[in-house]
Amino acid sequence: MNLIPIPAFDDNYLWLLHDGVQALVVDPGAAEPVQQVLQAQGLTLKAILVTHHHADHVGGVDALRQATGAVVYGPEAEDIPGPFIGCQGGQSLDVLGVRFQVMDVPGHTAGHVAYFAPDLKPSPLVFCGDTLFSGGCGRLFEGTPAQMLDSLGQLAALPDDTRVCCAHEYTLSNLRFAVAVEPNNTDLLAHQARCVDWRQQGLPTVPSAIELERRINPFLRTRLDAVQASVRQHTPSARTEVEVFAALREWKNNFR
Ligand SMILES: [Zn+2]
Ligand SMILES: [Zn+2]
Repeated sequence: MNLIPIPAFDDNYLWLLHDGVQALVVDPGAAEPVQQVLQAQGLTLKAILVTHHHADHVGGVDALRQATGAVVYGPEAEDIPGPFIGCQGGQSLDVLGVRFQVMDVPGHTAGHVAYFAPDLKPSPLVFCGDTLFSGGCGRLFEGTPAQMLDSLGQLAALPDDTRVCCAHEYTLSNLRFAVAVEPNNTDLLAHQARCVDWRQQGLPTVPSAIELERRINPFLRTRLDAVQASVRQHTPSARTEVEVFAALREWKNNFR
């Protein structure tokens, strides 16, 4: 299977997975850039996977369904342009012969799901929408810090080589913040230099990998002393890991 990030809007990626004949697309906020790729590569769209209800993730669903007859999968608990097949955590899907495990990852939105493909070659992958970004995580619009921390913990527990297919190119700004949190993290500094290079060449910084995110992403590292100490310099009252995570998210919200 081939994996392509289709850029859309300012910084969205609409992920396309295909076998040379049939394709699925994840979170098509717009139809046109997807249709261009389908046409250019002679692919038939069979399925649409939606992670959550935000407009930049579902805006192209109706047009693509109408044009192709693709089957739409989305979180059962959210308002997705229907008809769609409602999914929830623990469920297994077979799409284009690929097995996907649905994960409930609330926090960014209340019903946000991720789609994990454990058997894919050359390595597993996860479509995680706006929950986990490279070097960061989504804002908490509908969920609590405790929910988001738990959701990120589930994603962080996926196999090391799992490709992290997130829905936005936020990496450089995330890594600038991550360096403010952990100025002595050499893995982080090295990865930041690589990403600056890639962006200068117009290349995406994703997919990332779970093992890398565990080393560079402060939102997956709130248990570590270095991260906790750094957060407490900003928010001395942050004690528990959930409080540290909440304070870290708040710090990022106001970081320029
Ligand atoms: Zn969103
Ligand atoms: Zn988004």
